[in-house]
Amino acid sequence: MDIQSSVTPEAGKDYPRNWNEFLDRFASEEACLAYLEGLRWPQGFVCPSCGVVQPAYRSSRLRLMCRSCGHQSTVTAGTIFDKTRTPVRVWLAAAWYLTKQKQGVSALGLQRVLGLGSYQTAWTMLHRFRRAMVRPDRDRLKGQVEVDETYLAITDREEPLSPVGRKNKTTKVLVVLVKGNLIFPIVVIQISPPG
Ligand SMILES: [Zn+2]
Repeated sequence: MDIQSSVTPEAGKDYPRNWNEFLDRFASEEACLAYLEGLRWPQGFVCPSCGVVQPAYRSSRLRLMCRSCGHQSTVTAGTIFDKTRTPVRVWLAAAWYLTKQKQGVSALGLQRVLGLGSYQTAWTMLHRFRRAMVRPDRDRLKGQVEVDETYLAITDREEPLSPVGRKNKTTKVLVVLVKGNLIFPIVVIQISPPG
């Protein structure tokens, strides 16, 4: 999924400012899919097969068909939301929760707060989010930096083999931030042992 923008997203316009706005904006699965479409194809549907830009034929709520070449696709194809039975609305709620918890989020905590049916589902969601949050082309640190601390659940970085491994353990880490228009974690250093 290629979502790139040179414009810094604006709270309240590009994404909700608070939980009430989240509930209003993402009140239905259709609203969530429309939001993803707006992110992915801001100029309108772009066929992933032939590249033509024109409104797609909708054969179902999810399925989009290119009017030019007949290629069938979905807005979630090729994204972290692909090939999952979890509704996009639950994915977005998980993203909200994940980004709002300074103390870190464990798969068990996510399962509980979202009422997910299985631990595996929560673990898979967290795993996909964490992979997506690392920019492969990130630069080296330079200029003025800030250092802060936060907490990360580390025991579910790898799939636990037994229920013992599912305990909600967190570890304190240092997070180094670059001062500038965008602030994002660059370096994570474990400074306390798990458990
Ligand atoms: Zn096409």
